[in-house]
Amino acid sequence: MTQYDYDLFIVGAGSGGVRAANMAAAQGVRVAIAEQRYLGGTCVNVGCVPKKLLVYAAQFSGEFESAEGFGWTMGKSTFNWPSLIANKNREIERLQVVYNNRLQKSGVSLITGRAQVLDAHTVAVDGTEYSAERILIATGGWPFVPDIAGKQHIVTSNEMFFLDQLPKRIIIVGAGYIAVEFASILHGLGVKTTICYRGHKLLRGFDEDIRDFLADEMTRKGIDILFNTDIEAIESAGDCLAARLIDGSQVSTDLVMYATGRTPNSTGFGLEKLGIELDSEAAIKVNSDYQTNVPSIYALGDVTNRVNLTPVAIAESMALVNKLYVNQPRPVDYDNIPTAVFCQPTIGTVGLTEAQAREKYPDIDIYKTSFTSMKNSLSGMDGMDEKTLMKMIVVRSTDRVVGMHMVGSDAPEIIQGMAVAMRAGATKAVFDSTIGIHPTAAEEFVTLREPVS
Ligand code: NDP
Repeated sequence: MTQYDYDLFIVGAGSGGVRAANMAAAQGVRVAIAEQRYLGGTCVNVGCVPKKLLVYAAQFSGEFESAEGFGWTMGKSTFNWPSLIANKNREIERLQVVYNNRLQKSGVSLITGRAQVLDAHTVAVDGTEYSAERILIATGGWPFVPDIAGKQHIVTSNEMFFLDQLPKRIIIVGAGYIAVEFASILHGLGVKTTICYRGHKLLRGFDEDIRDFLADEMTRKGIDILFNTDIEAIESAGDCLAARLIDGSQVSTDLVMYATGRTPNSTGFGLEKLGIELDSEAAIKVNSDYQTNVPSIYALGDVTNRVNLTPVAIAESMALVNKLYVNQPRPVDYDNIPTAVFCQPTIGTVGLTEAQAREKYPDIDIYKTSFTSMKNSLSGMDGMDEKTLMKMIVVRSTDRVVGMHMVGSDAPEIIQGMAVAMRAGATKAVFDSTIGIHPTAAEEFVTLREPVS
């Protein structure tokens, strides 16, 4: 029998790689994990975690504004970006230590450096070769920026987390998760924010009502949204930047951020030479067991570009380890994955959009409500209070709830619970017979009586 250095060699210590490493090691598997940049990957360093910290920071401005309605007299508030970033960096460093300790405790060898996959069973890291029975590629993705004149002037989400100073004005290109989240963060921190998007609605793929509602709310808050346009060129103009749009008009700004999607990190470390199959967007092709066309090499998470969410990468790594080392296959169910967008107001969503439901079923009932939440009713913000939208999609013949969508305070927290009910197959009757918790926004989901269409 061939004796390998390791049973499993993982390339990439992000959410998926680290979970696979710890879980496999707990089964007595000899695991090594190589990381060239930062332990914890995108989520911990330049994604979910620091993003949520910035979201908290941005929410204070709205809280200060609405406090007067509750009897508070606010002093002059000031905001210090370098102090937020320093505190954020300290928290990320703490998490990296936690990740490191956990890997060490599990007995995983953490190898720092850039990995090259040399053959089906060999990985080299900075010149040292390691053999392994299996190799797992969990290298995630990287911001994609289209080729435009003046590309050298732009930043992506990667750099946003480390800016020395906040700009006074920013243009954000794109209208996906990252664009709307950063637009809300920056607006909340007092930056004059403009979204520039080639399409006609934010967040392609989300329910149409959610898309419209969010655009209205963001606009009401003061974010400029330019639809059906794009940047053609960016030029330096003294101490600011000039962005030329496709209609020839020019917008002056201090910073341009591109949030135009992410590309799988699948090239430049040996996979091409090995003949690992990639799709047209450079994602590694895998079968339902996360196996590439080279049987000893596996891939999961964002590098396979399927559902690019941290909890999905983690679920995939647990499914893989269960299959390979626990002998208890528990495949990931990709249906009804709940997701949230941490824009202002926040979005939580699970299941089918109205359009998807109408395509799939002939008999759909839509339940919908929008309102000003109780907290906002006292804020004295003169009609500027944040509104909430809640929507439920039901198949009439079976009474099954097949989609739930919410824009408003705590939507992600609320929808997480609703996702459990939906996965359990809850019918509208089950929702109706559930007693509400009063007074909450969430209780609206159990008191929606009449369909709107
Ligand atoms: P998205 O794919 O969500 O959005 C990309 C945006 O950029 C779309 O509006 C797209 O337009 C636009 N775009 C793409 N290419 C171009 C181009 N060449 N020129 C102009 N515009 C372009 O990517 P993000 O970068 O926002 O996020 C990447 C992924 O990360 C998300 O899909 C999500 O899976 C994950 N993520 C999840 C978060 C969460 O769970 N809260 C937070 C952040 C990221 P169009 O729609 O027209 O193609």
